[in-house]
Amino acid sequence: MVETPASVPFLDLAPSTEAVRATVVAGLERLLRSGAFVNGPAVADFEKAYARWCGTGDCVGTASGLDALRLALLAAELQPGEEVIVPALTFVATLEAVTQAGGRPVPADVREDDFCLDAAAAAAAVGERTRFLLPVHLYGQVADVAALESIGPPIVEDACQAHGAVREGRRAGTVGIAAAFSFYPGKNLGAFGDAGGLVTSSDEVARRARALREHGQTRKYVHAAEGYTARLDTFQALVLLAKLPLLDPWNTQRAEAARLYNSLLDGVGDLVLPTPAAGSSPVWHLYVIRTANPDALAESLARRGIGTRRHYPDPVHLTEAYTRLGYGRGSFPVAERLAQEVLSLPIFPGIRDDQLEAVARAVREYFDRG
Ligand SMILES: *Cc1c(COP(=O)(O)O)cnc(C)c1O
Repeated sequence: MVETPASVPFLDLAPSTEAVRATVVAGLERLLRSGAFVNGPAVADFEKAYARWCGTGDCVGTASGLDALRLALLAAELQPGEEVIVPALTFVATLEAVTQAGGRPVPADVREDDFCLDAAAAAAAVGERTRFLLPVHLYGQVADVAALESIGPPIVEDACQAHGAVREGRRAGTVGIAAAFSFYPGKNLGAFGDAGGLVTSSDEVARRARALREHGQTRKYVHAAEGYTARLDTFQALVLLAKLPLLDPWNTQRAEAARLYNSLLDGVGDLVLPTPAAGSSPVWHLYVIRTANPDALAESLARRGIGTRRHYPDPVHLTEAYTRLGYGRGSFPVAERLAQEVLSLPIFPGIRDDQLEAVARAVREYFDRG
């Protein structure tokens, strides 16, 4: 069989970058003239705009998503040694934030249907030292927050993959005491470098987080507590301000791409396609399919110039950095099985229908060959 040539990168930032290039270049010119490189006006402007977009009281810009999550936990007054329940399938930063805030991450299994923290498993993991539940809205799908809320411990959200996602009327970022967003370039809202932000409707949490991101300062040289250098960079803030008005249309493009994948890949091979929970509008940070041998499919796609990734090849408890938590293979069977089966296909704002069709064609051809 003659293989159709196709080349689709896993992630192409060019379309979204071009959309704001002129605005950002003009903003950079103004920034260079002003010299307000740290805590320039774009930071507060972006924080106001993003809090409004999320529907929360406040946003505190940070240097990364990890900083946002670590500061969210600290500002919500996590105490040393307290436990935080995290999903066993997530990006390692979820756990890094907990340990770096002085807590102990306690993984619990995820649900097969939405890939997110399973409420029954989380409830079973609650103990005397449990302080927070930390659901991750993985791949752009809000976790079952109604079920998680009924467990008891307050929620802090890892919303780093879920800008604008909604489930049963609840919007990512509005559920917990605080929520962390990453503005890493590949996220649904991405800066031109590292950036992040936490959102909260608690004035106290916002005030503490603002101090923590800047050496614990409440006023210049008044240090209430030990802090960090974890501010949102002014240049990144002006990039984010330029991109924010495009985020809704970009999320719509992602949803349309997911819909096209769903129709083109329905019934192909042994694929399990992503099925959003009832009453939910995911923002499709990733389009993740399941298959028995994702590495073989990935290799076949790579030979045709199609980029894929695996989110994530190991559940966190089997990741080398966290084997010290002491959970062996078999501890979280759903997360372990999903980790063996997941493959993420290209999806990004500006991806064209012919690119999606080329990916789907290549996937079909892989299964046709047996
Ligand atoms: C990206 C991400 C983070 C951390 O973001 P950085 O900006 O890279 O620090 C945290 N949690 C999840 C689930 C993420 O996807």
